[in-house]
Amino acid sequence: MTHAHNRRIDLPLVDHHCHGVVEAELSDNGFRSLATESGWPAPAGTDSLDSPFGLAVRRFCAPILGLEPLAPLDEYLARRRSVGTAEANRLLLHSTGTSDYLLDTGIRDARLPEPDAMAVLADARVCVIVRIERVAEDLAAESTAAGFVAKFPATLAARSREAVGLKSIIAYRHGFDIPAERPSGREVLKAADEWFRTAERTGTFRVTDPVLLRFGLWSGIDTGLPLQLHTGYGDGDVELFRADPSRLTPLFHATRTLGVDFLLLHCYPFIREAGILAQVFPHVYLDTGLVSHYLGPSAGTAIRQAMEIAPFSKVLYSSDSYGLAEHYAVSAANWRTEFAALMDEWIASGWATPRDAERIATMVASKNAKRVYDLST
Ligand SMILES: [Zn+2]
Repeated sequence: MTHAHNRRIDLPLVDHHCHGVVEAELSDNGFRSLATESGWPAPAGTDSLDSPFGLAVRRFCAPILGLEPLAPLDEYLARRRSVGTAEANRLLLHSTGTSDYLLDTGIRDARLPEPDAMAVLADARVCVIVRIERVAEDLAAESTAAGFVAKFPATLAARSREAVGLKSIIAYRHGFDIPAERPSGREVLKAADEWFRTAERTGTFRVTDPVLLRFGLWSGIDTGLPLQLHTGYGDGDVELFRADPSRLTPLFHATRTLGVDFLLLHCYPFIREAGILAQVFPHVYLDTGLVSHYLGPSAGTAIRQAMEIAPFSKVLYSSDSYGLAEHYAVSAANWRTEFAALMDEWIASGWATPRDAERIATMVASKNAKRVYDLST
């Protein structure tokens, strides 16, 4: 028997993509529904926590709430209830050693805290990432079709002044199989007319038209802010093969000299594709958020794949946590443990000096994010 690898990297983290924690008390089922990307009830006899993520909660979070590592799930959920969500959130968030959270404020979930409240809760700096599609839907709800087309670029530009970056969920609403060019004014107006007619019928503005999504993306590119793209695994509505980032190759060619950086988020299972793009294109970056907690014991596989081919200046840390403070705690603990194990291997096998390892870890933990998002100011 070998004993568990216990060395961890203690550097502060910049979590460049996350969504905030639910502050209300959660029932066990409420907890379970936030422990999966599935939006449907689990069938009888199954459990979203009897999973790699469940093992990770038992391993990393149980001790933070004062239990033995690998304490049974029932015990963990009971302990979380008796501690209360507020205190559990505080303990779990503080365990991560995160100095900066870049919070995507685009999800419609009233249970999530505003950026200021999240900063108090986490005792850290919180910066805002504005979701392009949310700005479009909010503006559409109070405009005519022509008014929307005329006002959207300026509205997004105004919102971007309070943010350090933008995000698009085009991969989920349509896919990355889009033409590289900016859509023409006439195309956009036609698509907007159609969108408003649909909304009159359905009573809701949900942007899925590829012309409008491209209009949003290009309006985002015009702001010059770093642009995050949800890539690969994520929401339940993703058609996975269309979220392969290699489909963005024409767009990356078209935008290479425009001065805008693209950050590919989570990327699983296309981490190697994302790594190749990050090596080839000067303005492309990647992370392995989301799977840093959902892969549990196998998170090291994703973390290692991200380090296979991209320059070290192109890989960032994020958790892509949503709702549960356990996501934050597990992602950080997994990254700290698995990245340390990888660096130890490189040192032991003659691939890096301890100084190299420290420098590379610092880049991924925080330095790359601080540079790309200009977080010094
Ligand atoms: Zn996300």
